[in-house]
Amino acid sequence: MTKVRVRFAPSPTGPLHIGGVRTALYNYLFAKKHGGNFILRIEDTDQTRFVEGAEKYIEEALQWSGLNFDEGVTKGGKFAPYKQSERREIYKEYADVLIKNGWGYYAFDSAEELDKLRTEAEANKNIFTYGPSTRKNLKNSLTLSNTTVEKLISEGNAYVIRFKTPENEEILMTDIIRGDVKVNTSTLDDKVLFKSDGLPTYHLANVVDDHLMEISHVIRGEEWLPSLPLHYMLYRAFGWQNTMPQFAHLPLILKPTGNGKLSKRDGDKMGFPVFPINWNVPNTEEIFSGYREAGYLPEAFVNILAFLGWNPGDEREIMTLTELVEEFSLERVSKSGARFDPEKAKWYNHKHLQLKDNELLVSDFKALLSEKNIEVNDKLISEIIPLIKERANFIADFWENSHFFFIAPKQYDEKAVKKHWKPEIPELLNQVKEIINNSSNFTRDNLHDEVIKYIEKNEISVGKIMNALRLCIVGSPSGPDLFKIIELIGKKETINRIEIAIKTIIN
Ligand code: GLU
Repeated sequence: MTKVRVRFAPSPTGPLHIGGVRTALYNYLFAKKHGGNFILRIEDTDQTRFVEGAEKYIEEALQWSGLNFDEGVTKGGKFAPYKQSERREIYKEYADVLIKNGWGYYAFDSAEELDKLRTEAEANKNIFTYGPSTRKNLKNSLTLSNTTVEKLISEGNAYVIRFKTPENEEILMTDIIRGDVKVNTSTLDDKVLFKSDGLPTYHLANVVDDHLMEISHVIRGEEWLPSLPLHYMLYRAFGWQNTMPQFAHLPLILKPTGNGKLSKRDGDKMGFPVFPINWNVPNTEEIFSGYREAGYLPEAFVNILAFLGWNPGDEREIMTLTELVEEFSLERVSKSGARFDPEKAKWYNHKHLQLKDNELLVSDFKALLSEKNIEVNDKLISEIIPLIKERANFIADFWENSHFFFIAPKQYDEKAVKKHWKPEIPELLNQVKEIINNSSNFTRDNLHDEVIKYIEKNEISVGKIMNALRLCIVGSPSGPDLFKIIELIGKKETINRIEIAIKTIIN
């Protein structure tokens, strides 16, 4: 195989939706799997759709996701510049080549003239297309004399350059995911390749850059499949067939219901993010929420995306980026749309949180505690994390699972009180309190053994004491190992909590 070079080529027309990040991810995985390069190219030739901040957002989102590119605007590279607006002279040159070799022509029809034709066609229940059957009657270099064309251009009349679609020809294409695709050119129109503003359209810039940047594989969303015949014809028109990249069009990401494409408004409507990181809509107060800010780990995020349209062919679901690189293949990407499941997304985060080294969670947990005005040492935090992590989907859940390590219960679970706070409990707990108070070895195991010894000696049921003691310490019937909590909160605090509970709980 020739050197693998793939590109992710977003247009900075807004924030990157998770579908876009998945395209970037599959490009990244494919490149890394084959020891190739992953390139970020910014396709900003449509200036009417330019959105402030979008380019920066794209880079930040890729960076957070761990998808580092080898060449790009901020990274440079052998084929720089990587931003199309900085390559404008190049495209004009290639548009001229097409005019010269007969694959392109100048068209002078004004927007009003074309609108009129469209309206007339609509009135006859037809659709107007500028193409093989209509171009012979329109204002272009195929119908006007050379002198007229030169005159119109030199007088500064606006023109576009269109692709001259061959008449009634079968275009045979191959897509790595979809197999062979066939299209008759009679269904196509003569796309504009070069606009009157002096900039190329997507089609021209995209093909020229893929060629010049020696792209070996074009991996992109399915919405670009209808453009493939034109791109094939452009490679032919330039005489670049032999080095044409291979194509792979990725399936859509569908709404959780499975009905239709996941749209950028779905997420906040249905309560889950569809963007990698928060996007503040420029000049408004509106914010689209992102996975980063919702508390997802980047490794979980890429795992979720990888499985939207691909799987390794076995039972594995939890995979790191390195494992994904090892296993990835375009042949295993499915043709059909992938339904997004927000609950499954949380599950992925839960699983990756469990895999994460506890020491790496300390600072996040500390920050969470700091928001509650709780300052504790790292050692205590490191001891608490393994006790509470299993019950958490997100780091933010740590608080709910751990507050009793830092503050005494303010209330007691009513149901548990009803069930476990029998009249004899205060008396029994006073004795347990004494055992704890007299314990000289304040460790989880020793405290446990001493209390159990007392229970056995007095023939009390274990549950009776444990449930009541847990109510005193935690306030509810849940939480991690009770004696570990006692060890960590310390003797004084434990005694205090038992005394307060005895005073306050009335059943
Ligand atoms: N600029 C196009 C986009 O915004 C790129 C499509 C392609 O990868 O060819 O998606």
